[in-house]
Amino acid sequence: MGVARVKGPLPGPKSKALIERRTKSVAGGVSLAHPLFIEHASGSTLTDVDGNTFIDFCGGIGCLNIGHTRAEVLEAARATAARVTHACFQVTGYEEYVAVCEALCRLAPGSFDKKAVLLSTGAEAVENAVKVARRHTHRGAVLAFDHAFHGRTLLGMSLTGKAAPYKQGFGPLASDVYRLPYPSPYRDLSIVGRLEAALMPHVRPEDLAAVILEPVQGEGGFTVAPREFFAELRAFCDKFGVVLIADEVQTGVGRTGTMFATEQLGVIPDLTTVAKSIAGGLPLSGVVGRASMFDSVPAGGLGGTFAGNPVSCAAALATLSILEAEMAAGRPQALGDKLRARLESWQGKHKLIGDVRGLGAMMAIELVRDRGTKEPADTECKAIIAAARERGVLLLSAGSYGNVIRFLMPLTIEGAVLDEGLAIVEACLPS
Ligand code: PMP
Repeated sequence: MGVARVKGPLPGPKSKALIERRTKSVAGGVSLAHPLFIEHASGSTLTDVDGNTFIDFCGGIGCLNIGHTRAEVLEAARATAARVTHACFQVTGYEEYVAVCEALCRLAPGSFDKKAVLLSTGAEAVENAVKVARRHTHRGAVLAFDHAFHGRTLLGMSLTGKAAPYKQGFGPLASDVYRLPYPSPYRDLSIVGRLEAALMPHVRPEDLAAVILEPVQGEGGFTVAPREFFAELRAFCDKFGVVLIADEVQTGVGRTGTMFATEQLGVIPDLTTVAKSIAGGLPLSGVVGRASMFDSVPAGGLGGTFAGNPVSCAAALATLSILEAEMAAGRPQALGDKLRARLESWQGKHKLIGDVRGLGAMMAIELVRDRGTKEPADTECKAIIAAARERGVLLLSAGSYGNVIRFLMPLTIEGAVLDEGLAIVEACLPS
């Protein structure tokens, strides 16, 4: 007897009623991947208001690396909330904020002096990293990549490399943003080795404040930046005095098997963004990196009323200590190895799977109608996700063509639950 349990057609009557209320009062621009309302969540499972239990391979888009409602996180958050729920770190200090910055400075790649700033969302972290880079370099231009996702704020969507639905109709976008192809070992590596030449028609390298990239593209479909391209970027940034920003909002805090993905890609960024899983499901984000860069911003230039909220900071401290122990025991990497082996075995049996890729436990399959032409199988992808939901597994798609299934289960998922969930997904694949 497994843990997944779907009692009837979805959505059940209670979710259906809530979806009707949602449709009337919630902005239609906020999408809903699964037509379900959650009653409670625990570890690697979600139970909806109709009593259906699902194995969660989404983690609220990669925010639950240590699982839902983890006791240590709840305890830390509760204890701090009982003392102080909000003070605003720009008004009066509290230790939790400093302790999270200390932890980030200790954990982030690079042996140079580091500092950090805390915020609330991934998009804010991206915005602030660019602000620091601009202030530090006294330059304005920013280079980003096709298929990137950096958030829904004005600068975030301007940096994002996918027009619909993120940018369409929301212009004018932020200026001085330039874009090049992201190297894809599966689809197109032509940018590798010719970064400077490719940039030439767009912007002078001397005018660039920053280059921002995801070490593994998240929304873009779990494409891993090749090491040689990352090295080329680092050399380019060093040559022209450009700040290299690694957006680790989705890849960070253990997802790829190391605390940060760049640790495995042989490159040390100047600034790194973190968010999503850092506070075990509570909202918190940050930027960590070279102290000398942060020191070029005068007091008042960074921050935000709720940025680095004490309850979220307490949750982050508990989360980071759990993750460090998981990492020391090699569990996230072991999950990644197991996942990769399973997905590759599927690829051998199901011709719809054109590519299996990722880093550590950040793995995905790309579905194509023909392995030669690589025509994206987006409708098939939707059908598999719907079928898995009916059998009790929640999945998320990714990729600019909507034909990638990504796996973002908690890194702490129990072996039996993982096996049950993967068996359900496999049963939904056409032979
Ligand atoms: N950067 C990356 C790499 C992301 O994956 C995301 C969210 N998917 C963001 C930024 C934006 O984060 P948020 O939604 O918390 O603003």
